[in-house]
Amino acid sequence: MSAIVNHQILLASRPEGEASTANFRLAQAPLPALAEGQVLVRHHYLSLDPYMRGRMNDSKSYAAPQPLGQVMGGGTVGEIVESRHPQFQPGDKVVGMGGWQEYSVVDAAQRGTLRKVDTTRIPLPAYLGAVGMPGVTAWYGLVKIIAPKAGETVLVSAASGAVGGAVGQLAKVRGCRAVGIAGGPDKCRYVTDELGFDACIDYRQYADAKALGKALQAACPDGIDGIFENVGGMVLDAAMLNANAFSRIALCGMISGYDGAPIPMAAPQLLLTNRMKLEGFIVSEHMDVWPEALNELGTLVATGKLKYRETVAQGIASAPEAFLGLLKGRNFGKQLVKLT
Ligand code: NDP
Repeated sequence: MSAIVNHQILLASRPEGEASTANFRLAQAPLPALAEGQVLVRHHYLSLDPYMRGRMNDSKSYAAPQPLGQVMGGGTVGEIVESRHPQFQPGDKVVGMGGWQEYSVVDAAQRGTLRKVDTTRIPLPAYLGAVGMPGVTAWYGLVKIIAPKAGETVLVSAASGAVGGAVGQLAKVRGCRAVGIAGGPDKCRYVTDELGFDACIDYRQYADAKALGKALQAACPDGIDGIFENVGGMVLDAAMLNANAFSRIALCGMISGYDGAPIPMAAPQLLLTNRMKLEGFIVSEHMDVWPEALNELGTLVATGKLKYRETVAQGIASAPEAFLGLLKGRNFGKQLVKLT
């Protein structure tokens, strides 16, 4: 047994409706001695992601429910502190799924559990954001589903976030008009002034889909060819009101319904009349594209052409509150927890 104490956040109970801090429990556990083939990782950052809300429910979904009483699952970046595997040395920086805890013991021999990363040109936490799962999500939905041509208009909701921010910048690289939807003037200013989108609409200024649709019409004078949807509800309805014939919707997320609110689609007939394609996707089911996507994302970040922002909570005990904030839009860019 090692003397190190590992602080962890467990799922204590399943939410009914809105999730709350009472659904989580702070715990601590000693670290076991390493077996042959194992490594000990000190986590530097934990990634908080909207999909974790779905896993807190005990309902059928693409991901198995998070078991009660166990450490919350989640992506982490960190450093090897002890190794009994020949391919990992103390000091190596790694990305993995270490969960909501300060340390993890990993069977490094198991393929895909840990990936060494180079932090000379890309900062370590970026491997949880723009050069990680959210970046690949943006890349997949844009490149493989929307497949935009230069000159087309791409609209993305939750545009200041980890996924949304990358979508618009990747669309600009491809010669498109990129328009964002985000909550509040600060986020919208960031989306246009820092990320280089052509326009950004603050959805909070509009009472319904019709009014938001009018604002989108002004921002998208040639209509919308690709909708990268992260939110659902009124935001998607407003986008569909401006969709061009043969436009595509990459249905990535519907965060406005994650706490259980109903999110009906107001006018599904537009899918037919506009001959639209709507495709939902889960990024982890497309591992074949990850190398190509990470290559482009890594190059763009390393050369300063892909920008991103992070909101960083401090310490494992702050993870539940930070996670609930993410579900309410209190984060500004990629939500992380710093664990060192
Ligand atoms: P973000 O960094 O974008 O954070 C979530 C944001 O959602 C909030 O900041 C908030 O921004 C926005 N939001 C909009 N409407 C609402 C609402 N009604 N309630 C709460 N928040 C709202 O998160 P990510 O970039 O990590 O994820 C973006 C989307 O992508 C999510 O829907 C997520 O589930 C999805 N996703 C899907 C994947 C897949 O494989 N399909 C993989 C990864 C993510 P604002 O203030 O602008 O409203």
